[in-house]
Amino acid sequence: APASELPVIRVQDVGRISVVKSFTTLCADFLYILHGRDLQTLPPVTNLANLTIVADRFDALEVVRSYVGRKKILRTIDGKTTAKADGALSEEKVRQRLLVAIMLDHPPWMERYSARLIVKGWVGREADLSSPLWWDLPSRIEEELAYRRECVLETVQSLQSYFLGVYASRERQCKLGYDSSAQCDSYQLGEMVRFFVRCGTLKLQGGVIDINEPTEPFAGDATFLLDTLRQVPEYQIDRHHSHCGIRTRLLPLLDLVAECLLHIGICTACWTDAREQYEWMDARKPLLWKRQDFALRTQGHGNKHADLRAMFTATERDWGS
Ligand SMILES: [Zn+2]
Ligand SMILES: [Zn+2]
Repeated sequence: APASELPVIRVQDVGRISVVKSFTTLCADFLYILHGRDLQTLPPVTNLANLTIVADRFDALEVVRSYVGRKKILRTIDGKTTAKADGALSEEKVRQRLLVAIMLDHPPWMERYSARLIVKGWVGREADLSSPLWWDLPSRIEEELAYRRECVLETVQSLQSYFLGVYASRERQCKLGYDSSAQCDSYQLGEMVRFFVRCGTLKLQGGVIDINEPTEPFAGDATFLLDTLRQVPEYQIDRHHSHCGIRTRLLPLLDLVAECLLHIGICTACWTDAREQYEWMDARKPLLWKRQDFALRTQGHGNKHADLRAMFTATERDWGS
């Protein structure tokens, strides 16, 4: 029949997509897939994300998922993206990829881009309901990411608190054996405080009356934070007291946290099939985590997840070895 005679359906709501140049094209792509025909070109990720949102709205996600899987579209996109371009993706592009990964079930993107958001700090804001869905990731991923980010920052901060605590305690930290001295510990504590304050990771404030604004969480890249702490000088009160400060002790711990950050992305399989045992946000926190008992087990899929979660979510951490 001629187009004028076809029934007309008015669609009120196509889901939370972004502003698109031509909705007709998006709709055409969707109908092509729905009717088992191939798309003319490889869709850019933004289009693919929008397409996914529309498909979900019309309860046709399964068709798009199997099309994208069969055509290896996401792998083709990876193949066309250099490592440099991937590293330079904006927050919005990263979020679009993560949305596609969640909706179309693509574990490699889920792991890679969820880790990116956590580490870069692109989480934890209130999204408004008119913004595209990738600003408010579904399936509780948005909340989980924000929580994991919080845990990462807390873990890094606990390193600082740990060393302030031990050097402020009466337990001698100076490494000089018989000649060890309290002055050396006091000196190290003083230099450490000055260093942390200079880095912006420590604020000194009065305890008589609280006149300070609450601290905003660090908003930058967590790896920069680790690199900043890595700059701590090897302070020495005199030529005999080498290695009495925190540098020698802190660096391996920063390496450990950095290594754990590599595994912080969300695992699709566990998120889907065993969320209760896997998620961080509603998990029971261990009261005390000890560095000396910790080795990230790489054998056994669940073990690695559990070790990582224990370290990052613990209420208290003992970094002593
Ligand atoms: Zn010393
Ligand atoms: Zn897993």
